[in-house]
Amino acid sequence: MKIGVLALQGAFHEHIKMLNQLGVEAVEVRLPADLDGLSGLIIPGGESTTIGKLAVIYKLMEPLRAFAAKKAVWGTCAGMIFMAKDIGIDQPLLGIMDIIVERNAFGRQVDSFETALNIDGLSGDKPFPAIFIRAPRLVEAQAGTQIISTLEDGTAVAAKQGNWLVTSFHPELTGDDRMHQMFIDMAQAMNE
Ligand code: GLN
Repeated sequence: MKIGVLALQGAFHEHIKMLNQLGVEAVEVRLPADLDGLSGLIIPGGESTTIGKLAVIYKLMEPLRAFAAKKAVWGTCAGMIFMAKDIGIDQPLLGIMDIIVERNAFGRQVDSFETALNIDGLSGDKPFPAIFIRAPRLVEAQAGTQIISTLEDGTAVAAKQGNWLVTSFHPELTGDDRMHQMFIDMAQAMNE
């Protein structure tokens, strides 16, 4: 099985490293043809405006939507913004997932923070060490979408909709590979 990582900008190396550690071949995706033969795609964190603009320039928008219609896709942080249908401002979005997302939702003082999260469907009993960097939050998850993790104050930070997964935080920057394993399992299930 091969998983792609959108490699236009942002934290794609770290995702590739983690997939490799889990024994999965990982491919950098920059052009539509790079999607051929992949079982899933990770859209990394970074800057969603830059990722969106580059995806338009490289003519990736429609190929990415067509890929997502059939395969597992996981957006982390900027990737979550890029997958959302509505973020309240105008920038290029894939607009596939029925979520409303607010960019940079955690204000100045808490630009970056780490917290232990309970995530539905994650293996093991230990909470997940989640790193948030100028992170977005889920304002609303619409019908068909399932919130799988919230902060203590109720802020939604991870969701699933069929074969799509989004997380506000950066699992590729931790030593914990359980989120990546969860995504690999989703990709595998779509292939069966
Ligand atoms: N603040 C970034 C954005 O709005 C996301 C930050 C990140 O991906 N860590 O796109």
